[in-house]
Amino acid sequence: MPPLSPCILRLALDTPLAIEFDYRWQPQSGDDPMPRVGQLAQVPFGRREVIGLIVAIQAGSDYAPDKIRDITAIRYQLPPLSAHWIALSRFAADYYQRPLGEVVLPCLPKNLRALKSTALDSALKKIDALGIPPQAATTAAPDLNTDQQAAVDAITAVSDYRVSLLFGVTGSGKTEVYLRSAEKILERERQQGGHAQILILVPEINLTPQLENSVRARFPGLHVASLHSQLSEGERTRSWISAHLGQASIVLGTRLAVLASMPHLKLIVIDEEHDPSYKQQEGLRYSARDLAIWRARDLDIPVVLGSATPSMESWHHADSGRYRKLVLAQRAAAQAVLPKIALIDMERIKASDGLAPPLIAAIRERLARGEQSLLFLNRRGYAPVVNCDACGWISNCQRCTAFMVLHKPERRLRCHHCSLELRIPSSCPTCGNVDLQPLGRGTQRIEEYLHVLFPEARVLRIDADSTRKKGSAQAAFETVHRGEVDILLGTQMVAKGHDFQRLTLVGVINPDTALFSHDYRAGERLFAQLMQVAGRAGRAASSAEMSQSEVLVQTRYAQHPLYRALLTHDFPGFASATLEERRSAGLPPFVFQALLRAESKTLAKALEFLQQARDLLPHQGIVMNDPVPMTMTRVAGVERAQLLLESTSRSALQSFLKSWMQALRKQPGRLRWTLEVDPIDI
Ligand SMILES: [Zn+2]
Ligand SMILES: [Zn+2]
Repeated sequence: MPPLSPCILRLALDTPLAIEFDYRWQPQSGDDPMPRVGQLAQVPFGRREVIGLIVAIQAGSDYAPDKIRDITAIRYQLPPLSAHWIALSRFAADYYQRPLGEVVLPCLPKNLRALKSTALDSALKKIDALGIPPQAATTAAPDLNTDQQAAVDAITAVSDYRVSLLFGVTGSGKTEVYLRSAEKILERERQQGGHAQILILVPEINLTPQLENSVRARFPGLHVASLHSQLSEGERTRSWISAHLGQASIVLGTRLAVLASMPHLKLIVIDEEHDPSYKQQEGLRYSARDLAIWRARDLDIPVVLGSATPSMESWHHADSGRYRKLVLAQRAAAQAVLPKIALIDMERIKASDGLAPPLIAAIRERLARGEQSLLFLNRRGYAPVVNCDACGWISNCQRCTAFMVLHKPERRLRCHHCSLELRIPSSCPTCGNVDLQPLGRGTQRIEEYLHVLFPEARVLRIDADSTRKKGSAQAAFETVHRGEVDILLGTQMVAKGHDFQRLTLVGVINPDTALFSHDYRAGERLFAQLMQVAGRAGRAASSAEMSQSEVLVQTRYAQHPLYRALLTHDFPGFASATLEERRSAGLPPFVFQALLRAESKTLAKALEFLQQARDLLPHQGIVMNDPVPMTMTRVAGVERAQLLLESTSRSALQSFLKSWMQALRKQPGRLRWTLEVDPIDI
């Protein structure tokens, strides 16, 4: 073998500098193999040592030889990341206007980026020791109905790139379509002597245990890895490596799993594709759904987007023929029918303590029959604000443009936007009045009232406050599944995905605020949320002794078109009306947007920065709106403003952003700013 010659390695490092870095490599001993692109390496950076990713190997460098430092070590023990994975990261970096290093390194588990490789080595050893998992008792696959069978056939008919939008009413058995398609693809690859890996993304961590159990039961003898932010570092490292080594056949995860390294990836599934949680809201502000689609196209594999209420983007693409629409029109369980939806007109019917008499009567009926009820109120705490009738004092947060929320059990006022917490004042801070009033209702207050109304009932509240401890949400949901709860009450946490077998009533309390939001997507989100929570009712095959399942919505706007569409479960009607509005108003998906946000101690400085940014470069074909304060202007004492860019051409916007970012990064000043491409909160 000829002696290895020194070379230059180009690395991506986790720094805000939008460049890559050259280092010199020379063999330390005769045994050192040549480094490869995709390997991790330890290098000196300033006075520190850091881990970087090798993105190129070159004979020489543009830098002077004395400026180039030596590589400290190569992590040979970890096989290199693939060219596809690096291309995916590079696309994400370019599209979302971030340096490559800020994409590739933060998405690796910490143990891989640690300077000591002991955790990595021990994780690799543990993975080595993993054999085939013991054969668990298999659950028999349920029979598919005609729609489900047609969907599975369509998804698995081809092995090349195609986006399928699986539009299925709640309870229509979308998960079964995913599992059956996965099974078919795994089997096909095995017969051809190859390996397949399947990636299934879900919006909510709390849904992973439920899905993980059914996947494990259905695929005994296969490795299933899960990837989400609540795993311990050790668990995350092992899951990540087993996906990277191709050992995990199925990877389940939340949005971050879209960046998992999976060398044999053959199918991607995105469940509840419309869910806003697929959009990362800090750092690299990516859309996991959009990256998944890019990834499928680059690998030339099928991708499935599943939803009962698809995003307007996906619905539009299905309408125009870019995506193929597969429809599941019926509920999967025999005889299970969609719940009956009715509105309670709160303009006419007076409610004491937030619950209208028809809803109370419906709950009472369920209690008598031993069935479960679910009450949905998307507002946690006891009351959203506390007020003094005498002088008009109101519990504003001193640091945010927001109210302090009353949390009665904890005896605290809490700001949900910064960490500020205060004891409940015993009298008005302004006038001394001792009779302070809670205004409005949150989940804690409804819970209190339920105990008064139904002292015998077992009431369980599930929201971010009741589930702070790790694992407590899962434990709470299990008590509902075991039938130990009569009335379940909660925020959007209870709306998603769960399959409650004895639930026949859903009550929706005060959803109206979203109708008047500044955010043009609020209606779309509300509709999805209501359809989803309504879908928790009546999922089991109805038996003679169970009530007809129903959904009661308390609203003061009973004539609103959104509620009219909801009454008939008419998503297509709602979607085409919404898309028509978007088209005439020039909103996404008919235009492309980017949002520059600036933060400062004073609003004037933030606005001034945005004004300068606006005038920095000529911007033909790009609409630059005026800089404006954000709706929630102040958070934790910081003033925030934003500048919205729009264009009907995605490529025009992208190429403008590239040069604009370069110019902005050269601007002096210490003001914090961020750019978001395809923002979902405006
Ligand atoms: Zn007062
Ligand atoms: Zn605050």
